[in-house]
Amino acid sequence: MKKASIVSIGNELLSGQTVDTNAAHLSRELLAIGMPVASSYTVADEIAVIVRALNLAGGDADIILATGGLGPTDDDLTRQAFAEFLGAELQMHEELLQKMQGFFARRNLQMPEKNRIQAYIPAGAKALPNNRGTAPGIIAEADTKVFVAMPGVPSEMKQMFAESVLPKLRQLIPDQAVVVRKLRCCGAGESIIAEMLGELMQRGRNPLINCTPESGIVTLHIIATAGSGDEAQQLVENSEKLLRNVLGDLVYGTDGQTLADVVGLELARRGKTIALAESCTGGLLAKLLTDASGASKYFTHGWVTYSNKAKIGEIGVPADLIEKHGAVSEAVARAMARGAREKACADYAIGITGTAGPSGGTEQKPVGLVYICVDSNDESQVRRCQLSGDRGSVRRRTAQTALNLLRLQLPH
Ligand code: ATP
Repeated sequence: MKKASIVSIGNELLSGQTVDTNAAHLSRELLAIGMPVASSYTVADEIAVIVRALNLAGGDADIILATGGLGPTDDDLTRQAFAEFLGAELQMHEELLQKMQGFFARRNLQMPEKNRIQAYIPAGAKALPNNRGTAPGIIAEADTKVFVAMPGVPSEMKQMFAESVLPKLRQLIPDQAVVVRKLRCCGAGESIIAEMLGELMQRGRNPLINCTPESGIVTLHIIATAGSGDEAQQLVENSEKLLRNVLGDLVYGTDGQTLADVVGLELARRGKTIALAESCTGGLLAKLLTDASGASKYFTHGWVTYSNKAKIGEIGVPADLIEKHGAVSEAVARAMARGAREKACADYAIGITGTAGPSGGTEQKPVGLVYICVDSNDESQVRRCQLSGDRGSVRRRTAQTALNLLRLQLPH
């Protein structure tokens, strides 16, 4: 099986000034054609460091894709590093120089002397055309491996990859397919899910199961590799069945589906409506539910009742209930949901009250304590959650937990 390695070159990537979107783009493109990425290196604009990364990447993979450092300035050293790595001299290519002079002439500009360096390519390597900028790419073969250098500018890199590199990679891997399916889960953390899956998550298996948690959602990536797309698809489907059997209703959806999408679809399918009374989430749940087009079918009202005055005046939470239990309490969450549902004449309502922090916590009611109530004609369920993380994370996890409670309360 042929694998790729990515080498991202640039001091700005290491200082955090620029986020490495090139590597993410290349990884997605490579996976889409069935080529797994074995490793990814991020290195400084220094010849010795780049050469070392090319050696490491060449040890991991068959196709090495480098981006960045092909510009004309003194800190752009990828060209020289490729020459050193390949043990070849840099050679001037007259046709590249003319093309570059044409690029400047069309803009009524004189080509700066510094740009001449971009017409140099290591002997034995080939230039890849750049239709959006001045820096040509480089492609070379060494020890049965293919080494490619592309510009760092994302738009130039993407076009060069699509037009000149991708067709070559497709030729190299005619019998290789990768299919990826994502299973979205909510209701348990990644370690519990990993424990439930046991050896299904062992490294080296095919399909490989990877796990990524974010804001209360755990995504399982099922990655199957096979000699054909159909075979890989079948492997993914078998594995998905196994995982669903083990995880039951922790699985709420697949691929790009959000929890709000799934809840929205279920409400629409049943012809049911929902209203919200939010406090610490400040309208985040309303935003998530109305992100889906067609939300007007099921979403009626969203109140952000942040103050006690709003809770009492807008949705009829009894003042003495707040006095007795405090605004962050099970009784108030229940009264918020009931009040919102009755005012909106909705089938379901969610009431949320909590302390997102960082200030406002007490010993009895620490930061991260949230009460969520899902109320309907048939039942009223409250969940007390003690969430960790910063203000944003508490708010996001509260909104996702509320959606999940509603999902589980909808009749199956
Ligand atoms: P140029 O010929 O324009 O100088 P280059 O090949 O020398 O391009 P760099 O100078 O390394 O590339 O980067 C050019 C621009 O592209 C910068 O704005 C840089 O932040 C951005 N860039 C470089 N590498 C990446 C990357 N891996 N992901 C996203 N952006 C990147």
